[in-house]
Amino acid sequence: MTDTDQPHLSFEFFPPKTPKGREKLLNVRQKLSEFEPDYFSVTYGAGGSTRDNTKGLVKHFHNEGVPVAPHLSFGGDDEETIKALIAEYKEAGITRMVALRGDMPSGVGGGYEMIYANELVAFIRKHFGDHFHLAVAAYPEIHPQAKSYDDDIRYLKGKFDAGADSGITQYFYNPDAYFYFMDQCHKAGITQPIYPGVMPIINFQNLTRFSDACGAEIPRWLRKRLEAYGDDSASIKAFGEELVTELCETLLDNGAPGLHFYTMNQYEPVANIVKHLGLQPE
Ligand code: FAD
Repeated sequence: MTDTDQPHLSFEFFPPKTPKGREKLLNVRQKLSEFEPDYFSVTYGAGGSTRDNTKGLVKHFHNEGVPVAPHLSFGGDDEETIKALIAEYKEAGITRMVALRGDMPSGVGGGYEMIYANELVAFIRKHFGDHFHLAVAAYPEIHPQAKSYDDDIRYLKGKFDAGADSGITQYFYNPDAYFYFMDQCHKAGITQPIYPGVMPIINFQNLTRFSDACGAEIPRWLRKRLEAYGDDSASIKAFGEELVTELCETLLDNGAPGLHFYTMNQYEPVANIVKHLGLQPE
């Protein structure tokens, strides 16, 4: 929100694969702009697989006058390739970025080297100074590959020490996981804002698939409730909307500095929640 006493709001998209998907997304973007988010972000496929689509969409939004942040990871590319891509974003007038390690692209065997996010942050700071606001990923339920809770917090601190400005969390449905995590971050000396990532509940099968892949926990009671709805997608949506609105209220009422929505390129689920929260501009 542009208003300083409004919580931060940002909306994440993934680059569509087809012209039809792109057209639909441009429409969704336009409608979500009614909430005057701080920015929209566009994900980057594992191994740089969406490089051109991500870049094309980011530039399109920017040319429409919309604040936008590309996600970026080394994704197997060499330093010169990544430097050229970042330089292109800078040249285009982009001032925000979400810096990540990313995951191993599917079908890639041994020998593939993933570059940790703190190294990407340091690389961007080294070559581009303070031009970009850099956001990094944070995991209240801890990254699935982390050796321990404390290690993961230590590596997150390393991303901030390397120059990150803010964090965005993986989604979660247990607000206590976020509050405990924030306490641990503060104890570790992290002072930058960490925005909760919010995943609306739209489709149970998809949610289970994403959660299994990224290590986000669906509490058993929630899984059981969703399972009980079976194919009744209208009830799942209605229940999900109420639950996620309550989650967001709890987060904001207890000090979360704002919200970052994983929109799944859809308008309605996010818009309904934001409206329930009363976050529309005057
Ligand atoms: P890192 O911070 O590098 O951490 C990865 C793992 O290594 C952790 O277990 C950590 O504890 C450990 N670690 C970190 N630093 C070190 C170090 N220096 N030495 C040893 N161990 C270390 N994925 C995509 O492919 N595209 C996207 O656009 C995308 N957007 C995302 C946006 C958000 C907000 C979030 C939360 C995730 C996103 N992801 C995306 C998923 C993300 O790429 C994966 O979760 C990935 O596995 C980790 O990325 P990271 O940047 O958190 O990695």
